[in-house]
Amino acid sequence: MNICAAARPWLRIPGRGEKMRYAETGFNLEIDLSRGSIEKVETDPKMVELHIGGHGTAVKELWDRVPPDVEPFSPDNLLIFSAGLLHGTPVPGANRTVVNSFSPQTNLSSHSLMGGFFGPELKHAGYDKIILRGKAPDLVYLWINNDKVEIRDATHLRGKGCTETGDLLKKELGDSRVQVAAIGPAGEHRVYMASIDHGHSSAARGVGVSMGDKRVKAIAVRGTKDIHVARPAELFELCIRIRKECVDSPYCGDWMAVDEDDSFHHDNFAWGNSRVRRKGFWSKELEERWRSLKYDHMDRQTGCYNCPKKCRNVISWPGRRRYGYKCFGKDTYHIASLQELDFSYEILGIAQEYGLDSYSTPQVIAFALELLEAGILKDKDFPGMPSDVRGRFYYILDKIVHREGIGDVLANGIYWAARQIGNGAEAFDHNTTKKFEQIPIKLGKVNPVFFLMLATGEKMAITQIEGSFPQDPLPTREQREEFVRNWVSAADDKFKQWYLEWEKRDQITNEKACAICDWNEAMHYIDDSTGICGFLSSFRAQFGGATPFHMNNIPHILSLATGIEFDKAAVWQIFQRNRTLVRANNVRRGLRRKDERPPEDHWAVRDEEREQKLLSDYYEFKGWTKEGIPTKETLNKLGLDYVSEDFIKRGILTESGGNHAKETPSGKAKE
Ligand code: SF4
Repeated sequence: MNICAAARPWLRIPGRGEKMRYAETGFNLEIDLSRGSIEKVETDPKMVELHIGGHGTAVKELWDRVPPDVEPFSPDNLLIFSAGLLHGTPVPGANRTVVNSFSPQTNLSSHSLMGGFFGPELKHAGYDKIILRGKAPDLVYLWINNDKVEIRDATHLRGKGCTETGDLLKKELGDSRVQVAAIGPAGEHRVYMASIDHGHSSAARGVGVSMGDKRVKAIAVRGTKDIHVARPAELFELCIRIRKECVDSPYCGDWMAVDEDDSFHHDNFAWGNSRVRRKGFWSKELEERWRSLKYDHMDRQTGCYNCPKKCRNVISWPGRRRYGYKCFGKDTYHIASLQELDFSYEILGIAQEYGLDSYSTPQVIAFALELLEAGILKDKDFPGMPSDVRGRFYYILDKIVHREGIGDVLANGIYWAARQIGNGAEAFDHNTTKKFEQIPIKLGKVNPVFFLMLATGEKMAITQIEGSFPQDPLPTREQREEFVRNWVSAADDKFKQWYLEWEKRDQITNEKACAICDWNEAMHYIDDSTGICGFLSSFRAQFGGATPFHMNNIPHILSLATGIEFDKAAVWQIFQRNRTLVRANNVRRGLRRKDERPPEDHWAVRDEEREQKLLSDYYEFKGWTKEGIPTKETLNKLGLDYVSEDFIKRGILTESGGNHAKETPSGKAKE
């Protein structure tokens, strides 16, 4: 970090009339893998004011450079690794790297995040983004060492696991401080559930498959340059306070890393292929047994760049490479297989080396076994498969990773596999939205806010948007008053008032539900552009009112870092612009109202009429047509005139701003 540019004469000082670039490096690395070209490209400084950085500027690149007729597996699709605007500055917990592309699973925007050290290291190497285009003729890795950037042969790494690749590259490059993001065999074989791993943090959801398609095994980065900030002394002083708050506050970090009571997930989430609820599964004896299992096998807990929290549990399981997990990640395999924690611990060491997303993959395996049980798939589809559940999971995992036999179909995810298999398999696809596997939450009554987030969210899964407003009301007014008293992160007083008045989960007006959904989304879009971790901000706020980062202090932090005056209204406007641009990218690729449906059995009690009214009200609230297309007026107000012009040219909107498409008020069908 550079805290005083003037004191360091070797730093490049801009010439007369040239503006200093603060917080950002002002350069992207453009790599065309087909041509083997590498360019360092200066970016437009206006982009910070318009989109902040990270996810926001990546989405703009995708709009400008990937037209809707470009297929996800086309060499013209881009794969973009973005550091957040605040990476490499003193801001604690700013380390989330965003990876964007268009997904072959959904044909819509892919959006994924990984923690760790990769984004900050990239900034220190002198780049805000790596933009990959084209496809390498054979497996390669990228070596970015400050100004020296090379595309290198990676055929010796073919078939290697993710962390194994990281370790091998650090050795090969002779520097243990190199940060590596790598795919495993799943990415190499273009499995849709493939993830990109970086030191036990991983980005999945359509980006591992894109990296494999581009034949990039890994990206290794080492950077030693400074990052300039506009008002270093003030920012540094503020960050010291925030860091202390992170250390002291129980309202940030991943409590699931330390809390051994996991009754909520086990009693409320569905097991198997997201169908079976096991109410009463959790017990004190089980908790005690699992606690011992964890601490008997946990090496340590680790955190990310410039963050005092330690959210990742690092596990050593006999016969496996060490791996890390956080959040609900330890539960997914045993929940899908109806086993216990030891099975998750046992299989994760292999699945993570393969480079597979541990949220969707177990659901796909359980789906295959359900089809076998139902007679839709036959024994001959699984030649040589063991008879016990655990053995079957390993068998199918291996088939998927190598796209062998039935694994080749399953590697496309549940939505596509169900349609390829046919013969009634579609009925077992009951936990996807927009063709993507969702977290297997199964609750009784609809929470209107969550209905909207699941239906209209475009970052693929609910965890990417849930956050600032609690999921349920506290039982008594006194408890809610206590909550509201500490709620410094509330973006507006109206949210406090609404929470005080809220008594039953499903009873909240459409007007309030729309505004709360908007706020939940806002915080994620801002975090994903600044690079701040959601466990210190957006995601965490729902479980307590005093997160270190929120809408009331982020604008000031941005001002100190960039030298551009941001206020709440400006940051909110940027969120709307970025979010609308994601929608625009998806609308151009065919997204419409009929696609905006949470999984059918997500809640036990449904009311189609209310849900459709809610959706209509939300579209109106956002300034979208009844088909969910941003109107010309909305687009132009956000400075997205170029989007409205494109929509009119393509016949998506009329000159008067409405949409041409026939409206489908009740979008029952999934397609
Ligand atoms: S809060 Fe946890 S997950 Fe987030 S940056 Fe810190 S250590 Fe990483």
